[in-house]
Amino acid sequence: MEQVFTPLPSVPDHPRLEEEILQWWEDEGVFEQVRNRNRGGPKWSFIDGPVTANKKLGVHTAWGRTLKDVFQRYKALRGFDQRYQNGFDCQGLWIEVGVERQLGLNSKREIEDYGLEKFAAKCREVVVWAAEELTRGCKRLGQWMDWGNDYFTFSDTNIEYIWRFLKVVDEKGWLFLGHRSTEWCPRCGTSLSQHELTQAGVYQERADPSLYVRFPLLEREREYLVVWTTTPWTLPANVAAAVDPEAQYGRRENGEWVAVARYPDETFEEVLRGEQLVGWRYRGPYDHLPAAAEVEHRAVAWEEVSLEEGTGIVHIAPGAGQEDFELGRREGLPVLTPVDEAGRFYEDYGWLHGTSTGDAADQIAGDLRERALLVEAGLYEHRYPHCWRCDTPLIWRVSDDWFISVEEIRQPLLDANATVEWTPPQYGKRMDDWLRNMDDWNISRRRFYGLPLPFYRCTCGELNVIGSRAELEDRAVEGIEQLEELHRPWIDRVLIGCESCGEPVKRVVEVGDVWLDAGIVPFSTLGWQNPEWIEGGYATGASRELSHADLPDQSYWDEWFPAHWVSEMREQIRLWLYSLMFMSVALTGKAPYRQVLTYEKLLDVEGREMHGSWGNLIEAEEAFERMGADVMRWLYCQQPPTQNIRFGFAPAEEVKRRLLTLWNSVKFLVDYGNIDGFQPRLEDLEGGPDAELQPLDRWVVARTAQLVADATSAYEEFRTIDVIRSFDEFVDDLSNWYIRRSRRRFWDGDEVALRTLWHALVQGVRVIAPVMPFLAEHLWRNLVPHGAASVFLAGWPEERAGDETLLSEIAETRRVVRLGHMARQSAGLKVRQPLRRLVVDGTRLSDEHAAEVRDELRVKQVELGPVEATELRVKPNLPVLGPKLGKELGPVRAALEAGEFEELDGGRFRVGEHELGPDEVLVERTGKEGWAVASGDGVTVALDTALDAELELEALVLDLIHRINSLRKEQGLKLTDRIRITLPAAQKELLQHEDWIKQETLAVEIDTDGGSAEPQIAKA
Ligand SMILES: [Zn+2]
Ligand SMILES: [Zn+2]
Repeated sequence: MEQVFTPLPSVPDHPRLEEEILQWWEDEGVFEQVRNRNRGGPKWSFIDGPVTANKKLGVHTAWGRTLKDVFQRYKALRGFDQRYQNGFDCQGLWIEVGVERQLGLNSKREIEDYGLEKFAAKCREVVVWAAEELTRGCKRLGQWMDWGNDYFTFSDTNIEYIWRFLKVVDEKGWLFLGHRSTEWCPRCGTSLSQHELTQAGVYQERADPSLYVRFPLLEREREYLVVWTTTPWTLPANVAAAVDPEAQYGRRENGEWVAVARYPDETFEEVLRGEQLVGWRYRGPYDHLPAAAEVEHRAVAWEEVSLEEGTGIVHIAPGAGQEDFELGRREGLPVLTPVDEAGRFYEDYGWLHGTSTGDAADQIAGDLRERALLVEAGLYEHRYPHCWRCDTPLIWRVSDDWFISVEEIRQPLLDANATVEWTPPQYGKRMDDWLRNMDDWNISRRRFYGLPLPFYRCTCGELNVIGSRAELEDRAVEGIEQLEELHRPWIDRVLIGCESCGEPVKRVVEVGDVWLDAGIVPFSTLGWQNPEWIEGGYATGASRELSHADLPDQSYWDEWFPAHWVSEMREQIRLWLYSLMFMSVALTGKAPYRQVLTYEKLLDVEGREMHGSWGNLIEAEEAFERMGADVMRWLYCQQPPTQNIRFGFAPAEEVKRRLLTLWNSVKFLVDYGNIDGFQPRLEDLEGGPDAELQPLDRWVVARTAQLVADATSAYEEFRTIDVIRSFDEFVDDLSNWYIRRSRRRFWDGDEVALRTLWHALVQGVRVIAPVMPFLAEHLWRNLVPHGAASVFLAGWPEERAGDETLLSEIAETRRVVRLGHMARQSAGLKVRQPLRRLVVDGTRLSDEHAAEVRDELRVKQVELGPVEATELRVKPNLPVLGPKLGKELGPVRAALEAGEFEELDGGRFRVGEHELGPDEVLVERTGKEGWAVASGDGVTVALDTALDAELELEALVLDLIHRINSLRKEQGLKLTDRIRITLPAAQKELLQHEDWIKQETLAVEIDTDGGSAEPQIAKA
C-alpha cells in the first residue's frame, strides 16, 4: 500500500533536519511567498535595533534575534504586512578599538601616524566581514529578514539624518559646548557619557592606593588638615580641603585635624565645629610645581562631606573629579587640569611630566613620605568604573564637550514613555527613573571613525550647524571635491563659509556618540521628510555596495511610524531605547514605539559571564552543530525575561528529551497511519473531525482548542514562556493520556482516533512553529501532504471555544492519576503490580473517569470519600502567611501544631477565627501502616498496599507482557506481525491469563514446553 507519511527515525537529527529545511525554504522562496501573501494586509511595524558589526554571531545575540523572529513569524501567520529590515551598527568605539587591536596600535597618536584614511578603510573592512558573518549566523538561526537590504549606520544617509536632528536641536537652543568634568578613558582618549557607564561590566571591584596626607596650615604652626584619597594622581591638582560645617573636628596631640566622629576612641586637644575651620589656608602638597604655584589653598564648607569613611576632610581637585568640579564652581575655586587626553601629566607638573595617572600613584606616595606629608598608606577595595570598551580604569577630566540640554525635553519624554506598553511592565518604570534622573547628553567623542559632528565654530563667535550633505556642498569653500564619504579624514578637509562673517571655517574635531547612529533609525530608514522614494538610496557613503536598501519617502514613514514593537536587552533601556525615544520626541513629540519586550543577560550554565579567555564561551556555530537552532530557540523562549538565562549543552539535552515526546507522538501517528492507509482530511483541521467521536476524542479536540487559545494570548502579550508551557502540557496530555488511553483503538485501525490525533498534532505543530520553525516545518510537510506547502503559508489556526467542563474533568482525573503514581512511588510499588483499592478525597470523579483511574493506576476499585488512612499535619506557609497574619502568626502556628484546626472544602482550613487558603498552608499526609498516600492542591489519594496471590500473579503476567513486547521490538517485528510464544515450564501458571497475554502481544499461540529459562517468541 502506498504510504501517506514518510516514516520517521526514532530520534530527530536537529542540525541535519534544519539544514534541509533551510535549503528547501531557499529553493522554494518560502519567505518571499509569505511576504507576498501578506502584502496589503494590516500592518505590524517592527524596527530592528542594529547589531554591532564587529564579530560573528554569539549565543547571547542569538537570544534577541530569536525573540524578534518568533514574533515576526507569529504576526506573519496572522496575516500582517511587515518590515523585515535588518540593521548593522558600523562606527564608533566598538569598531575602532577592535581595529586598533588588530593593527597593534595603542594610542590616538599611533592611529594618526598610521593614517586616518587607511584606518577608515580598515574599519570598513571589519564591518564588511562581520556583516557577512552575522548574516550567515542569523540565517542559520532561522531568522527571516530582508537580507541584503540591511541598513548600515555608517551610510551617508544615516549620517545626514543625524545632522538634520542636530540642526533641529540647535534651533531649539538645546545644543551647547560644555566645560565640564567628565568620565574619561585615557586609553581611548575620549570622554564617555552617563548612559555608557550604565552598561554591565563598567563597575568592577578593584584595589586602589589609599593615602592619608597632611596639608600644613599656614596660620597655625605645626598643625595640619589630614585628607584621605584613593586617587593619588589628583593630589597635584588639589586646590581646597572640604569640611562638613556641622561636624566636630578635633586636633590630635601631633597637630593633625580630623573629624571627631571618625575617631571616637581618640582624645583631642582642641575641638571646633567645621564652620570654624572654613577659610583656614594651607600649603598644598605640590605648590613647588609650576602648575599649582599660584593657587591659594583653603578649607571650604561642603554638606556632602562623608563621615562614613576617610578623615572627614575631603581633598578637592576640580580638574580631576566631577563633584569637585561642581563644588569648585560654587566656591569660585581655580581648576587645575593635570593630565592630557591620554592621561599623562602636562609639562607644568615638573618631574611628573609624561607620567600616567596609574604610574604616578607610587611615585607620589614615595615623594610625600620623603617630605613627611604622608600619614599612612594602604590599599582600598572598591567598585570603580572602567571603560566599557577597553576595560581601562576611567579618570575624571575637565574638557570641552558638546551636550544636548535635557531640561526642556525631560517632561515630554516622560509623557511619551507613558504611552508605551512595556513587557515586563516594571521596565517601563526603569525608563521613567532614568528619564527623571538623566543629565545633559554628552554627544561628542574625540575619536576618528564615527559620525562627524557637523559643527563649524567660527572665530567671530558664530556656531554654524550643517543639516545635510547638500547644505555642506552649497556652503563649502574648499575641499568638497575630495569628499568620498561623510567620515574623517575627508570631511575635515572641507571648509565652509561662516554664515555670519563669511570667513572660511573648519569643522570641530569631534565625532558623535554611537547612540545617535542607532537612535535615528526610525527616521533614516523610513524616509521621514524625504520628498521622493530613492531606489538603493540607503547604499550611500561607506555603505555603498553593501546594501541595496531603498530610501523610502514621507508617505512610507507615515505608514510605518511609530513601530508597533521593538525588543532589546534590558541594558538597552538607557542606551538604544533611550536614544530612540529622545530623538523621536525631539523631532515629532511622539514615542517611536508602542510596545517593547526586554530581556536579561545570557550567562553560562554556572551563572558566570561567558568569556573567550575563561573557556566557557559557546560560539553560535558550535551550538547550531551540537544542539540545533530549534533547541536554542526553545531555550531562549522558555526563559523568564526578567532573569538571566543560563545557557549550555546540559539544558539543551533536557529540551531535546522533551521534544522527543512530541516526536514520538508524531511517529506513532505516522506508523499507525501508514499501517491503516490513513488519509488525512484538511477539513478536519479547524474544529476537529466531523465524525462519531468518543469522549476522549472530544476531550482532545477541546484540549487542542484550549492550546490554540492559550498560545494565542501568550503570543499577543509577548510571553514566550507561556507559549512553551502550554505547548509542553498539551504534548504531555496528548502523549500520556490520549495516546496511552487509546492505544487499542490505534491497533484496531480506528479511523476516528487517527483523525483526532492528526488534528491535534497538526494544530500543535502550527502553534509552536514561530518558536521552532524547522521542526514544525518538517513535521507539517510530512503530516499535511495536501495542504499549504509550508506551515508558514497555512495561516494561524482558528480560535474556538473548548468544552470547559470536559477539560476540567479530565484535568482532575489526570491529577488523581499523578497523585496515585506518586503514592505508588513512595511505597516502592511498581506500576505493573495491581492493587485492590484506591480512596480519593477532595474531588469528584464520574463513574467513567473513575474507570479511567482504575485502569491507569491498576487498582480494582476506586472509592470516593474521606481518606481515613492518613495522619494529617498542617504547617503555615511562612512566606505567604507571615505578611498576612503578622503578630497572629505565632498562635496560628501553635494551633496547627497541636492539631487544633478544622478541614474545610477545597484544601482550606479553619484555625480559630482564621480561614487559611490552600496556598497558605503546607499539608503533609502520611500513610498509616498498609496505605500509601499522596496529596496536593486539596486532593488526597490513598492506595491500599496489601497484596494477595491473585494480585501477585497478575503482576507476573504484566511483567511477561512487557518482556514479550520488548522482544518484539528487539527482533524488529512489525507492529502488525503475529507471533508464537514459548514459555519456560516454570511459568505455566501464567496461562490462567492466556487470552489476556495473547491480546496484548498479538500472539496466536502459547506453548509451555520450552526448555529455556526465558520466554521465546517467533513470527507466526
Ligand atoms: Zn577605553
Ligand atoms: Zn564667522
